[in-house]
Amino acid sequence: MRIAMVSEHASPLAVLGGVDAGGQNVHVAELSAALVRRGHDVVVYTRRDDAGLSDRAVMPSGVTVVHVAAGPAEHVPKDELLPHMAALADGLEQAWLADRPDVVHAHFWMSGVASLDAARRPSVRDAGQGRTVPVVQTFHALGHVKRRHQGLLDTSPPERAQLEPQVGRTVDTVIATCSDEVFELRGIGVGADRIDVAPCGVDTALFTPEGPQEARRRPTRIATVGRLVTRKGHGTAISALARLVDEGRDVELLVVGGPPRERLAEDETYRALAALADELGVRDRVEFRGQVPQAELPTVLRSLDALVCAPWYEPFGIVPLEAMACGVPVVAASVGGLIDTVVDGRTGRLVPPRDPEAVAGALGVLLDSPATAAQYGREGRRRARSRYSWDRVAAGTDRSYQSTVARTRAAGPAGRTDHTDRTDFASTKGATL
Ligand code: UDP
Repeated sequence: MRIAMVSEHASPLAVLGGVDAGGQNVHVAELSAALVRRGHDVVVYTRRDDAGLSDRAVMPSGVTVVHVAAGPAEHVPKDELLPHMAALADGLEQAWLADRPDVVHAHFWMSGVASLDAARRPSVRDAGQGRTVPVVQTFHALGHVKRRHQGLLDTSPPERAQLEPQVGRTVDTVIATCSDEVFELRGIGVGADRIDVAPCGVDTALFTPEGPQEARRRPTRIATVGRLVTRKGHGTAISALARLVDEGRDVELLVVGGPPRERLAEDETYRALAALADELGVRDRVEFRGQVPQAELPTVLRSLDALVCAPWYEPFGIVPLEAMACGVPVVAASVGGLIDTVVDGRTGRLVPPRDPEAVAGALGVLLDSPATAAQYGREGRRRARSRYSWDRVAAGTDRSYQSTVARTRAAGPAGRTDHTDRTDFASTKGATL
């Protein structure tokens, strides 16, 4: 199959850990590589965010990356990218006229906007004898969930509230990454018959229990890993650390993620977290590591007694899987994808979100019982390997593509017959025709 991945802000070639570079980049890179291993031809279309990038690059995995001109050739925060989606659609239209995909897989709501716009253009239909190209969508995050948890802190453009559900109702298939997302999608009107579930995965060859681990500074070590954004809950981990220290434990906390270490001081979230650690009297026990290359993360993860993953909400969350694959127990907030990946009392503990006391309580029990911690670690490793390898994820995604293509072919040149939504995605303003 010829598969076009569209990932407007998240390039598979990006350095991870920055504000807008995390799970989606990993997902697109690893899923695409695994689909190439299954014999498919995969091209990833992403926005050119650096003038020095070549038009086309082939990754060692065999995945082709095409940089499409859409807005300035420099980093633009993803919440400011909507006005450039029409230009992205122009680039997709040109590319698809020359090299027509069998299926498009759009990542994040704005890629859905650009993909639907391009796929429905008369030139693309005409080139396919009146057929549109089927569009499969993975949201990675949902705006109404973000708004629910972040309120006024949410910097998404206001158009998202209307456009995102319309993308969900218009595409041929939505792939949810966890069961919680299925309920959220149903809530915005996506039909159950068009939702498939395929989780994110983990590189089980890189993330292993065996291998080097870095030295600790204190007898007990925990960490929180992820982009330095407030909703990731690094602050909850710091508050939990303070409680453990109050109980007399000699613990250190690593905070991994954000800009490179030498530029941390410029980061607002870093400054707020450092101030919190100061205020709680644990600043000397918290090490802000900044961005760590993913290849070095296993060395960090293996040095831990436990990983804390305490986001306010989490569309999926690859980091806990990475810890599990390394045989490290996880204490996680019971939100979003973490409810599926972390099994309470088997691979770690699930606790309520934004509850440092609960995190500290679960960690305390684990730290007091190394045998339980080791057992959770073994179970976590088993679970990550058996259910979340990228090859398994790609097999499920492949099934979804095949059934989408079969369904749209059966519907004839008009494509879906049940379209109730007639949004003009080309306007990117959500105007309904
Ligand atoms: N990551 C990394 N270095 C860092 C911080 C994060 O390589 O300093 C990687 C991490 O290993 C994971 C991804 O970025 O693969 C984060 O994905 P996750 O789904 O946990 O969070 P998201 O960024 O999607 O919210």
